Amino acid sequence: MDRKAGRERVLILGSGWGGYVLSRQLSPVKYDITVASPRSNFVFTPLLSDATVGTLEFSHVVESVRDRQKRVNYVPAVARSVDFASKKVALEASVVQGAATDIVLTTEPEKPESTRELRGKEVDVRKWRQGTKMELEYDKLVIATGCITNTFNTPGVLENALLYRDVSDARKIQRRIRECFELAVLPNKPDQLRTHLLHFAVVGAGPTGTEFVGLLADYIHRDLLVYYPQVRDRVRITLYDVSPKILGMFDESLSQYAFENMKKEGVEIKTSHHIEELRWGEPNKPAIDMDPKTCLTLKTKEEGETGVGMCVWTTGNAINPFVKEALSDVGTLPASATIKRDEGQPSDIKETSWKVKKNKRPGALLVDGYFRVQLESKDGTNAFMNDVFAIGDNAMMEAGSPPATAIATNQEARYLAKRLNNDDFDRVPRFSFRDMGFLAYIGDDKGLMQLPHVQIDDTNKKVLPEGLKGRTAWLVWRGAYLSMVLSWRNYFLIAIYWLFTRIFGRRVG
Ligand SMILES: Cc1cc2nc3c(=O)[nH]c(=O)nc-3n(C[C@H](O)[C@H](O)[C@H](O)COP(=O)(O)OP(=O)(O)OC[C@H]3O[C@@H](n4cnc5c(N)ncnc54)[C@H](O)[C@@H]3O)c2cc1C
Repeated sequence: MDRKAGRERVLILGSGWGGYVLSRQLSPVKYDITVASPRSNFVFTPLLSDATVGTLEFSHVVESVRDRQKRVNYVPAVARSVDFASKKVALEASVVQGAATDIVLTTEPEKPESTRELRGKEVDVRKWRQGTKMELEYDKLVIATGCITNTFNTPGVLENALLYRDVSDARKIQRRIRECFELAVLPNKPDQLRTHLLHFAVVGAGPTGTEFVGLLADYIHRDLLVYYPQVRDRVRITLYDVSPKILGMFDESLSQYAFENMKKEGVEIKTSHHIEELRWGEPNKPAIDMDPKTCLTLKTKEEGETGVGMCVWTTGNAINPFVKEALSDVGTLPASATIKRDEGQPSDIKETSWKVKKNKRPGALLVDGYFRVQLESKDGTNAFMNDVFAIGDNAMMEAGSPPATAIATNQEARYLAKRLNNDDFDRVPRFSFRDMGFLAYIGDDKGLMQLPHVQIDDTNKKVLPEGLKGRTAWLVWRGAYLSMVLSWRNYFLIAIYWLFTRIFGRRVG
C-alpha cells in the first residue's frame, strides 16, 4: 500500500498498447500507478509507417509515459524477474548514468556487437549496457511486455535486417531509404550496384509488412522520384512471404484485390518464397563485413541470391525473453493464488511445485477471462493469481484468444482497468472481444476492410458483406485509427498533416 494515501500499488510492466492504455484508464484515486518499461514513450504502431515515410512526424505517433499531472509514475527499467511470493519485481535501469546516456537497453535480442570505437579508443559496450539494479514492490502486477520479432533463426537476419517495432527502428529505415537513393546517384557507382541499392525488400506479407510496402511505394513513386528522376527505371520494391498469399487473415477476394493493386503500383510480390540468408556484399561475391556504402544479398530457396539496398523484416511475433525465461518456476503456491474450483486439490499444496502456465507455442502466458495469470502444478492442478494479470501480445486466453493487435490490446486494457477500478472480478461477464474486422492500407489511397462474418445457424451463410475495398476502405482505415489516437494534440496534428501531405506532398528532408 501507498501508506500516505492509502492506495494500493499497481505496477505495470511495459508501456505499449497494453501498459500505456491501462495506466491512463486506472483510477489514480484508488491506485498508486507505476509503469516500468525501457521505452519512455508509447508508440501508436498503426501509424508508425506513416511517420517512417514522412507523411507524419515521429512525434505525432508517440505519447509520453510520464504524466504531466503526476497520476502515473514512470521507471525507465527492464523487468528481469518476479518473486510472486514476496510480491517484488527485480529490474535493471535502462538509462545508463554518465556520458553514455544515448544507450538504452532494448528488449530485442542483443546484436553480436560488444565493442565500439569512441574518440579513437575501443570501449566495451556491454559495460555501458549494465544498468542499475533495483526492486519494486507491488500489490497488483500487470505484465504487458509484448513480443519481439520472430526471425526464425534465419542466418544473418538478426544482424543485418531492419527489424520493425519501434520508433528507433523506423528512424533507421527512413535513413536507409534516403542513403540508398543518395548512394545510387553518386557519379562513381557501378551500374550493377546502383540497381542493387535501389531494390527495397520487405519480408512478411501480414498487415504490418503489406501496409509498409504500400506506403513505401507511394513515398518512392509520388515523392522521392520527383527528386531523383534519373533512377526511375531502377527502383524495385519486393514483398516476400513464405505463405502462398498475402494478408492471410483476409478473405481470398480481398487478398487477391490487394495483390493485383500492389502489382499495378510496381510492387513485386513473391509469395511461397523461403528466405535462407541475408548478408552484406553483392550477390555471388564473397560476404563482407557490414558496409552501408554497398548493398546486401538476400538469398531465397526458390531464386538464389539477389542484391538489395535494405531488407525490412516484419514476420510476426516471438515471445518476449522475459516471459520465456524469467516467468516460469514459482516454487510453492503464492498466498494470493486460488486453486480452480473444478480441479481436485493436490494432497499437500505447500509441497507441490508450481509453474506459470503458458501455451505451447509461442509460449504466451495463459490467462483466464479476467486476465489473471494462471499456474499449474506438477500433478496438473490449475490455479490463478488474484494479484497478477497479463494483457496484450504476451498473453493468451485459454478459451479462445483475440488476435495479437493494437485494437484487441486496447480493449483488453480498458476492460482490465474497469475490473480493477470497480473491483468486480467474478461478478461481471468475462472479457469478450468486440470483433470489428481487420483493416489494412495497400497503397495508392486504397485499403481493405474485412468485416466480421456472422453465420446463420450451421448453414455457413454470411449475413454481412465480405468486406470493403478501395478508397472507401482507406477512408475507414484512416477514420478508425484517427479515432483511436490517445491525445487531442496528436489527433489534430495527424489530421492536419494528412491534409498537408495531400496538398504539398511528403517531407523529403
Ligand atoms: C510496426 C507495427 C505496426 C502495427 N500496426 C498495427 C495496426 O495497424 N493495427 C493493429 O491493430 N495492430 C498493429 N500492430 C500490432 C500492435 O502494435 C500490437 O499488437 C500491440 O502493440 C500489442 O501491445 P502490447 O502492449 O502487448 O505490446 P507492445 O505494444 O509491443 O508493448 C510492449 C512494451 O513492453 C516493454 N517491455 C518489453 N520487455 C520488457 C521488460 N522485460 N520489462 C519492462 N518492459 C518491457 C516494451 O518496451 C514496450 O513498451 C502493429 C505492430 C507493429 C510493430
